[in-house]
Amino acid sequence: MNKHVGITATVPVEIIYAAGLKPVDLNNLFITSDFPKQHVYDAEIAGFAHNICAWIKGIYSVVTKEKFQRVIAVTGGDCSNTIALGEVLQNRGVEVIPFEYPLDRSRDSLINAMERLMAYFSVSWEAVEQTKERLDRIRAKLRTLDEYTYKLNVISGFENHLYMVSSSDFWGDLERYEAELDKLLTEAQKRPPRTQEVRIGYLGVPPIFTDFYELIEDKGGRVVFNEIQRQFSMPFFDKEDIVGQYLRYTYPYDAEGRIQDIEEAIKERGLQGLIHYTQTFCYRQIYDIILREKISIPILTLEGDRPGKVDSRTALRIETFIEMLKGVED
Ligand code: SF4
Repeated sequence: MNKHVGITATVPVEIIYAAGLKPVDLNNLFITSDFPKQHVYDAEIAGFAHNICAWIKGIYSVVTKEKFQRVIAVTGGDCSNTIALGEVLQNRGVEVIPFEYPLDRSRDSLINAMERLMAYFSVSWEAVEQTKERLDRIRAKLRTLDEYTYKLNVISGFENHLYMVSSSDFWGDLERYEAELDKLLTEAQKRPPRTQEVRIGYLGVPPIFTDFYELIEDKGGRVVFNEIQRQFSMPFFDKEDIVGQYLRYTYPYDAEGRIQDIEEAIKERGLQGLIHYTQTFCYRQIYDIILREKISIPILTLEGDRPGKVDSRTALRIETFIEMLKGVED
């Protein structure tokens, strides 16, 4: 476990790899574990209140149960709950390294934040740039995966989600991640294109539901744009240096960048409707107001609380939304 560094959200992962260490996205570890619901209950038994988001509780449980020694806590540009979570983990003996994206999106401030992280891990800019080149080769393949999703229509919404969401840490194992991605791309080339599906864009933090994408496909839709998950893959990796790459990452900054990104996707991917997922007790729910005011195509807002299957009321709302979009097309 010594080589493993937990991360509470996407950070400049090039720095961790340059140090010869293995990043582990704690959100992904929590949600892909065998008993994610149990992790939430266990955190509540440890004292976390009911009205704290399930992701925070899940992170707490996996860090303490898996005995992480070091965690990078994103304390700016992500979630204010992480600040208090970091202090609780410190009290449990975990070394917590803060990292913050600057609210003003200033290049100098981001350079300072990255240099603090680099100093902690004793890595140079040169080493980080070299690591970026290695990661960029994988990021290019993720772009291909994305194009296979919305241009060739041979990748499912879930497959797209899975690889994009995992690009926050590349499973802590670049070789294995790249090999599995290559395998999927090769296999997908042999698939017939999917047709006659309602093209959906997914907005917001990754879903806590375990069968979300399958349900949408079952009802006649397909997610061809995973907004935030795609952002984890740093889609502008080849247009920017490493600092610019993390400045163009939309998630930590204001809504304007997100809206521009979403508008481009609507045009480029022919999106017919958007599903905005919000997490119970998350401040990001408030962004729904801005998204609805600024975006012109239909939006369905959903809310999820604990890990598990989509509840029947939400499933019915998804079905009705897709049926409505089919009607718009006819
Ligand atoms: S879903 Fe919202 S409240 Fe929960 S960890 Fe993420 S940003 Fe924080």
